[in-house]
Amino acid sequence: MATISKAEMQALFGSSLRCDEPLARFTSARIGGPADYLLTVSSSDELGQAVLFAQENGLDYVILGAGSNILVSDAGIRGLTILNRARKIEFTALDEGVRVFAESGTSLPLLARQCVTQNAAGFEWAATVPGSIGGAVVGNAGAHGSDVAANLEMAEILHPNTVVQPWTNADLKFDYRTSYLKETGGHTVLSATFMLEHGERDTIQATIETFQAHRKRTQPPGATIGSMFKNPPGDYAGRLIEQANLKGLRVANASVSELHANFFVNEGAATASDVYGLISQAREVVQQQTGITLELEVELVGDWNA
Ligand SMILES: Cc1cc2nc3c(=O)[nH]c(=O)nc-3n(C[C@H](O)[C@H](O)[C@H](O)COP(=O)(O)OP(=O)(O)OC[C@H]3O[C@@H](n4cnc5c(N)ncnc54)[C@H](O)[C@@H]3O)c2cc1C
Repeated sequence: MATISKAEMQALFGSSLRCDEPLARFTSARIGGPADYLLTVSSSDELGQAVLFAQENGLDYVILGAGSNILVSDAGIRGLTILNRARKIEFTALDEGVRVFAESGTSLPLLARQCVTQNAAGFEWAATVPGSIGGAVVGNAGAHGSDVAANLEMAEILHPNTVVQPWTNADLKFDYRTSYLKETGGHTVLSATFMLEHGERDTIQATIETFQAHRKRTQPPGATIGSMFKNPPGDYAGRLIEQANLKGLRVANASVSELHANFFVNEGAATASDVYGLISQAREVVQQQTGITLELEVELVGDWNA
């Protein structure tokens, strides 16, 4: 139960706080109802303080990175949504490689591009994943045969009990598209440090371009939610949906991509309930035809009971 009023919040945060703010423009799918309160933070310190503020004042809170792995409900998010724009990056060249520090609101593609200029190799995969460092650490994001776990040295974590600790790669218990943080919830990633290899600028750039070209051929452009379902053991969710003849299936303004069946596309003014309609149909048909229950990879966020 919130112990602070709207007027007190506005006085405290000024222009960093917006009330009843639609969240669609902060998600890759361009879908999502309003946040009661949307607070933009610009540094790790501000992110940590915002989380502690929510805890102290009885406010539910959600951390929003790049919004590329969530489906926000049409009713939006109650309590405090913390928009993470903490984006400090530092490179340190060492004999053994290049150490990269990034605050958790840093965009993965932006960091990958900066790695090119620093001759730092090993982060090329991230150029094609439209997330933030925080979301990527939580979900062990990865692509093209690599992932966060491959190069992460340490992440600075704010515990639910308010202690800040450096967590090693082993502490984070990474697995395929998951981590201890995702399994347990309640922790905040403040920053992450990676150890990359010394590389040649042109080679790193060429690798990125190859990955980008592959994406262009295989994934739809525009407002999408990538990898809607987890791949079931030994198979691919996209293959199962395609085999069920669901490519191009439409619910109002949302559709299953013709290019990649595990991508759902916002055709212009799709709502979260349009997308949820597609999710339900895809699950039902695949279940009937194969006996496999597709599990969501994307997280449903906000008020889904309204
Ligand atoms: C077109 C497209 C292609 C994609 N391709 C890939 C791919 O190849 N590989 C892949 O792994 N993923 C892919 N994704 C999914 C997505 O980009 C990744 O999962 C990404 O890491 C999510 O990061 P985010 O910042 O967008 O997280 P968000 O969607 O903002 O949040 C996801 C979850 O993480 C939590 N979170 C965010 N930041 C923090 C933080 N600082 N501390 C604690 N919790 C936090 C949120 O509260 C939420 O629960 C794709 C998505 C799209 C739209």
